[in-house]
Amino acid sequence: MHRDDMIRQLRHRSAAGQPWDIVVIGGGATGMGVAVDAAARGFSVALVESHDFGKGTSSRSTKLVHGGVRYLEQGNVPLVMSALKERGLLRQNAPHLVHDLAFVVPNYSWWEAPFYGIGLKLYDLLAGKYGFGPSKLLSREETLARLPALEPEGLLGGVVYYDGQFDDARLLIHLAMTAADHGATVVNYCPAAALLKDEEGYVNGVVARDGETGEEFTLHARVVVNATGVFTDAVRRLADPGIEPMMVTSQGIHLVFHREFLAGDTALMVPRTSDGRVLFVIPWHGHTVAGTTDTPLDAPTLEPHALDEEIEFILDTASRYLTRPPTRSDVLAVYVGLRPLVKGEGKTSTLSRDHVIHVDSSGLLTITGGKWTTYRHMAEDTVDHAITLARLRDEPCPTKSLPIHGYRDTPADLTKEADPLAVYGSDAEAIRELAADPDLAKRLHPDLPYIAAEVVWAAREEMARTVEDALARRTRALFLNAGAAIAMAEPAAKLLARELGRDDAWIAAQVKTFRDLAHQYKVE
Ligand SMILES: Cc1cc2nc3c(=O)[nH]c(=O)nc-3n(C[C@H](O)[C@H](O)[C@H](O)COP(=O)(O)OP(=O)(O)OC[C@H]3O[C@@H](n4cnc5c(N)ncnc54)[C@H](O)[C@@H]3O)c2cc1C
Repeated sequence: MHRDDMIRQLRHRSAAGQPWDIVVIGGGATGMGVAVDAAARGFSVALVESHDFGKGTSSRSTKLVHGGVRYLEQGNVPLVMSALKERGLLRQNAPHLVHDLAFVVPNYSWWEAPFYGIGLKLYDLLAGKYGFGPSKLLSREETLARLPALEPEGLLGGVVYYDGQFDDARLLIHLAMTAADHGATVVNYCPAAALLKDEEGYVNGVVARDGETGEEFTLHARVVVNATGVFTDAVRRLADPGIEPMMVTSQGIHLVFHREFLAGDTALMVPRTSDGRVLFVIPWHGHTVAGTTDTPLDAPTLEPHALDEEIEFILDTASRYLTRPPTRSDVLAVYVGLRPLVKGEGKTSTLSRDHVIHVDSSGLLTITGGKWTTYRHMAEDTVDHAITLARLRDEPCPTKSLPIHGYRDTPADLTKEADPLAVYGSDAEAIRELAADPDLAKRLHPDLPYIAAEVVWAAREEMARTVEDALARRTRALFLNAGAAIAMAEPAAKLLARELGRDDAWIAAQVKTFRDLAHQYKVE
């Protein structure tokens, strides 16, 4: 997957005035899913992303492939069933990136075991043939054996159930590669600056701008799909400045700690926090991730900030359940994601997580809402609508059994650091070959497993253009340990500069930009 080739393809069609079947705006899970689906059906597809693939919400999730236990509590059975099915399909199609994870709901009151026990049996039942393993009640001893760091005082027992875990940004990059493998043109750092319309006022293309050179491309399209998450309304306004907004935004933060805070390979699920939400504490890439919050926000930004009260809330809730209460100085990284929620009544935490397909009077097709787990189903639904809207030929959707780039039938285990290259699936071998060069086999920081060869691979094959791309989304350094990532910036910049043909001034600018950004991922 090479950016120069992608730009050439945009330029070529643009100059020839040749329309694409589908142009997708937005390179998160939703847009990339659409690109994969449409390309696999044989349509010509271009996807433009204004920043890097996954810069938005899709790299900032809780990393769960799940049906959503809490939606069950809200009585949304169809949503849970559909997500549980997608959970099973995703594990089947990307076993190198999705694995089963055991979650324990600890019980400190007598009523919790029967209450959560029955609820989670229903969860098992709804998964049907896509089940990940039966839930069961645990004794106090069994609970502590699974969660050695759990607060023992007052503990009566627990309930264990199973869901999926993944690496969101890595899956996104592999979806981009899947789309490219099937002939899609996917371009990062290429914002959609304007929409084109025909003489009747229907949207029939996109003006995209190469963020690196300023070159503009006129992308004619039979249908334009708006998959811009929390920026949905901004893109809809490009077609009609007077539209009624359809989105609201809420932010969720996660704190990352050393692995010892949780210990073991089992996740902790707190079913009801003091604000009535769910909190997860999960083992991920050899660290502990705790989240999340739900704070309504007036306007979306690409790099949202964690609020002090959100940080305190997670520390406080986690402290009630862990023998070693984490403090601010234990936080290795904090990351913040924005939920694209479709407007409705009530609190943001109770708004539906169903996806919504919306067609404006301009013909712009918007797909939004949903969640990572259901991206495939969302894409299928979107391309089905695109076929009708743009009168494209009927092609069946093949993605239920379409292997995702890197597919390898050895299940990943993201709880540990055991084999850091496992997430690359079938690409791991090529990275190991690069690492035959002793300089490229070196770790970039003693506290993280990432080696220099991964940065070289990211630049050569995964369209990484900046230090941030390499350290936030090709590796997950920034999300795991912001301090270590800051120290990795300079060696990473030098490796990238060599691959991308950049000079010393570029290296210095990259290091500064990345360090400024990474400070926001630290808790002082
Ligand atoms: C805190 C939190 C935790 C979550 N945890 C989970 C979880 O564990 N499991 C799960 O299944 N789901 C989870 N979700 C939901 C899931 O992460 C989101 O539903 C999903 O990532 C949304 O993807 P998206 O592609 O719609 O949006 P985004 O990932 O935000 O992508 C939209 C993209 O559009 C781009 N864009 C905007 N304007 C333009 C333009 N003019 N031109 C080109 N590109 C543009 C942006 O740069 C961005 O990259 C979580 C969400 C949050 C907020």
